Amino acid sequence: AAPLPDAVRVAVIGAGQAGLSAAYHLQRRGLESGRDFALLDENPAPGGAWQHRWPSLTLSNVNRINDLPGLPMAQAGIAADSIRASAAVPAYYAAYEERLGLRAHRPVSVDRVREDAGALRLELRTPAGPGALRADAVVSATGTWDRPYVPYYPGAAAFGGRQLHTHDYRSPGEFAGQRVAVVGGGISAVQLLQEIAQVAEVAWFTRRPPEFTDREFTPELGHAVIARVEERVRRGERPGSVVSNTALPLTPGLRAARAAGILTARPMFAALTGAGVVQGPGDARPGQTEAFDAILWCTGFRFRLDHLAPLRQREPGGGVRMDGRLATRVARDHRIHLPGYGPTASTIGANRAGRAVARELMELLGA
Ligand code: FAD
Repeated sequence: AAPLPDAVRVAVIGAGQAGLSAAYHLQRRGLESGRDFALLDENPAPGGAWQHRWPSLTLSNVNRINDLPGLPMAQAGIAADSIRASAAVPAYYAAYEERLGLRAHRPVSVDRVREDAGALRLELRTPAGPGALRADAVVSATGTWDRPYVPYYPGAAAFGGRQLHTHDYRSPGEFAGQRVAVVGGGISAVQLLQEIAQVAEVAWFTRRPPEFTDREFTPELGHAVIARVEERVRRGERPGSVVSNTALPLTPGLRAARAAGILTARPMFAALTGAGVVQGPGDARPGQTEAFDAILWCTGFRFRLDHLAPLRQREPGGGVRMDGRLATRVARDHRIHLPGYGPTASTIGANRAGRAVARELMELLGA
């Protein structure tokens, strides 16, 4: 591995879709990888969060993985039979870094980013021990995977069964013969419900009745959803998930699961007990306990921002106010970009974000 420089113009934290796209566009604009900009990633191997996705998530049941700029997945020489997302995408990113000469330093964790006499100082954890890197600007493309979100319900600590989040789900076999409560109204909840229902008895709990749509997810619909999230972050509000802003597309698989009665959502339970959950208002027996062996929280993720805490960028409500062409730039500090946050939290959004980030940073740095 190449040695880490002491100082760079731009530090890119995270080598997922967003960090790689930003790195590509910085390189295109004349910055040299490993000298003018450094790409740092905490994971031991290429692939961003995709290397951790559960085994049954395949290239055919993901929403869609957009190509990175400059090298489409189809040309990256990935084995045709590699369909597990957790293998195919990391293989693609590895080939991408290699072919485009993007040198990622890993595993390197950025614990803190601090103000340092007009520049920024990144405090690092590396295999060789603590380190530091000075940078004029920071692209924090740190994603959400390491920040699973579980809402608070009374009694959660008392529940004697297993509680896990989408983040820790591996396979339905773990639930064979059990009664499982799946919580959440997004695509992950629906996918995992269908899988687990093959081997276990499942119940689905959502805060709001889920909305299904026959409408094809057209580009226009996509733009409208993204525009709503973008408005929120430009006002400094928390982004909210893209799913919370759209309905569930009725794929043939979903239609079949609905016909089989698997996708019948119940109102959210009120609390947990040692043995299960207390049924909520609107359910069949409100206030009564219902036994479950496991609760699977498919309740989403938050963007990872803790390393930026010393820079005090959060608004009182917990969001970060963004500006710039695609709302990737922190309004309070134009040296910091967050591609993959809010409206750009998808592989296509992350791609576009990379270009906007590079353009705005080159303007800022006068490079
Ligand atoms: P990530 O891929 O999470 O990469 C962030 C990287 O930053 C990681 O490698 C991490 O190690 C590193 N990092 C984080 N913090 C630090 C730190 N402090 N120091 C050093 N390194 C750090 N989007 C789609 O477009 N299509 C889909 O089909 C799709 N499916 C999804 C399925 C699931 C289950 C989930 C959770 C999300 C899905 N998404 C999908 C959204 C998806 O996560 C994004 O589209 C995209 O892959 C995120 O890329 P990213 O670069 O922002 O983040």
